[in-house]
Amino acid sequence: MRGYTLRPMTPRKITRQVIVGDDRVGRIRIGGGAPVVVQTMNAGYTHDIDACVAEINRYAKAGADLVRVAVPERKDTEALKEVMRQVTVPVVADVHFHYQRALEAVEAGVHKIRLNPGNISDRDQVNKVIDACKERGIPIRIGVNEGSIIERRDKARRAEELGKFFAGHKSGHLLALMIAKLEEYLDIFAQRDFHDVCISAKSMDSALVIDIYTEISQRFDYPLHLGVTHAGTRDSGCIRSISALSTLLANGIGDTVRLSYASDHIDEVKDAIEMLCCLGMRERKGVELIACPTCGRIQVDLFTLVKEVEKVLMPELELPVKVAVMGCIVNGPGEAEGADVAVFAGDRRGIIYVQGQKVANVTEEEILPRLLQECKAFEAKVKSGQARLGEKLVEIKPPDPIGELGSGAAKIAAGQVSQVSVGHTG
Ligand code: SF4
Repeated sequence: MRGYTLRPMTPRKITRQVIVGDDRVGRIRIGGGAPVVVQTMNAGYTHDIDACVAEINRYAKAGADLVRVAVPERKDTEALKEVMRQVTVPVVADVHFHYQRALEAVEAGVHKIRLNPGNISDRDQVNKVIDACKERGIPIRIGVNEGSIIERRDKARRAEELGKFFAGHKSGHLLALMIAKLEEYLDIFAQRDFHDVCISAKSMDSALVIDIYTEISQRFDYPLHLGVTHAGTRDSGCIRSISALSTLLANGIGDTVRLSYASDHIDEVKDAIEMLCCLGMRERKGVELIACPTCGRIQVDLFTLVKEVEKVLMPELELPVKVAVMGCIVNGPGEAEGADVAVFAGDRRGIIYVQGQKVANVTEEEILPRLLQECKAFEAKVKSGQARLGEKLVEIKPPDPIGELGSGAAKIAAGQVSQVSVGHTG
């Protein structure tokens, strides 16, 4: 039999560190081994001050460390002054085309600027932004995206760059072009001795995102802002983003992340945090739910139960209590061993365990309230020091599979069930 060795997660690449924030909202560190920062971007208009502040603070409450806002017009940077007075997290101004917006945002007290030097063609204008940020100690993210990387204004250069797509390997060419642009832009900043920089190079192609960030991580030591751009709805965008970002993070690459969904951006924050928790890169706050996918052995309405458990427990528990909701005894006891509180179901019933100790055997209707009661009691014990998360008190002895919870001897006798299966299909 083949043996497998568990490979430890690659250590984080230690990049330079930038600090974003102020005395009022606090300062967050990006890079230099600091915990990975979660960010998102406002969907609404910055000039609508009340809505803008409410949106930023809503994301902050959900766990965003940093929120970016667009400032396409003068009225946006004018509003930014008031916005900055009311927000609860550091704010980044997203600037395209108009270098004046960057200068105005700096003046308004913004904590960071995102700039694509590719769409500000006048070098002097970029220099003015760099100097203003340097004077105030404000970092700049240099962001290049696949969609904006091809030259737009210089027609000859555009034809040359586009031509290469058809001459060679599209992804290879894009990767080379994005790196060349980044080098060109970083050179502008280096010439002004400005190193308070984060970099990003996004694409909507997950595989290309993995390749490009792997490459730029080897070439530059600036902190990396990871993202798959224009990733789609939450359903597709989640998979597209997390497949790339978690691969990079597991390989030690990345200092801050942004998922980008065409849906409520609160989901970007929630999914980014969940990704970091799953990778062991962020401490979980609130309940961790484990549930089986169900199969032909199921004897309760587990999908409804799990949804209800999630809905009821999430707002009730503060601590990261691990709760398992399992459909039958095949894996129920095993999961119950690893969970703080577990229920595994049988024939329209559920057996509830707390840290491996059986505490109840209830009907299907009673599972939810009893599980909530046990979870709250367990959390109270943890808070008062009488119990510890993740501890197992007793060995779980699974009930007889053809006994009280299993398919039942009567059913077997009646020929309804021919045998009791062991092994897991999930
Ligand atoms: S065998 Fe696994 S998937 Fe099937 S009901 Fe039991 S625990 Fe759920």
